[in-house]
Amino acid sequence: SRQFTRPLNDLANQFNTLLSAIAGAERVFNVLDEEEERSDEENARELERVVGEVEFKDVSFSYDGAEEGDTVHDISFSVSPGETVAFVGPTGAGKTTLINLISRFYDADSGSILIDGQETKQIKRESLRSHMAFVLQDSFLFHGTIRENIRYGRLSATDEEVEEAAKLANAHSFIMKFPDEYDTEIDQDGGGISQGQKQLLSIARAILANPSILILDEATSSIDTITEIKIQEALERLMEGRTSFVIAHRLNTIQKADQILILREGELIERGTHEELLSQEGFYADLYKSQLRKKVM
Ligand code: ADP
Repeated sequence: SRQFTRPLNDLANQFNTLLSAIAGAERVFNVLDEEEERSDEENARELERVVGEVEFKDVSFSYDGAEEGDTVHDISFSVSPGETVAFVGPTGAGKTTLINLISRFYDADSGSILIDGQETKQIKRESLRSHMAFVLQDSFLFHGTIRENIRYGRLSATDEEVEEAAKLANAHSFIMKFPDEYDTEIDQDGGGISQGQKQLLSIARAILANPSILILDEATSSIDTITEIKIQEALERLMEGRTSFVIAHRLNTIQKADQILILREGELIERGTHEELLSQEGFYADLYKSQLRKKVM
């Protein structure tokens, strides 16, 4: 699963840049060097209310400016508000790259990406990302209290709102077991908090942020069954009514998705629901027979 590291680190870097602006660099967990992001287009607008309709039109992109062919090539799909889209495909197929493009950590070389009918290139990055929340494999916790870490989702939230979000995220009960409860300090290496608990905290943060668009990267590392069930339940609450893009590894998630997009070598080769794809007897059906079916939780 470490092959995922590089592009996700890009995301992590950006996120930490944001965090450091707010929390002060010395308080930030794992600050990494990152170049300054390019400035917005001259006439870039704010993105006002968002319902979460997303459209890719003939999108191509390569990290090196297309010298050796595209990383993702000619991708088109559209997503209705509230739908869940699962990106499925082998490592290196381009799943993370599509996430990087949606959130504009990179811009497409050609084609366009629209949110609620608006070209994302015409929108200020900060405004665009204020409508998104990320729940990634390595949850970004910074050195601070649990309360501060959850409140990062919406800095104006009251203590009651922080707790409410933690309850919805199935995090409240484990938080209350610490002697300092919500004032428990999370140290540099996240000591004392399990991987699964970190995910619950990042789900609480996302619930508090209340975005229209969610970006999820499912954990591939093993988490104990009880925590896993809590995470699944919390994610379902979080995803309800929001447009969600999931880099999916679990059969359960994939089966429930409104659309499964199958990527291979940067091409979108199949799409449909689980049943539709099985009946096509193509790449997905083969993947299901050879791998996915064995991973049933
Ligand atoms: P997936 O998420 O499906 O595993 P990625 O989108 O991460 O695939 O990667 C697609 C291709 O782009 C891979 O060949 C990968 O090595 C390459 N790649 C990913 N991130 C970068 C980057 N920041 N710079 C250059 N190449 C990259």
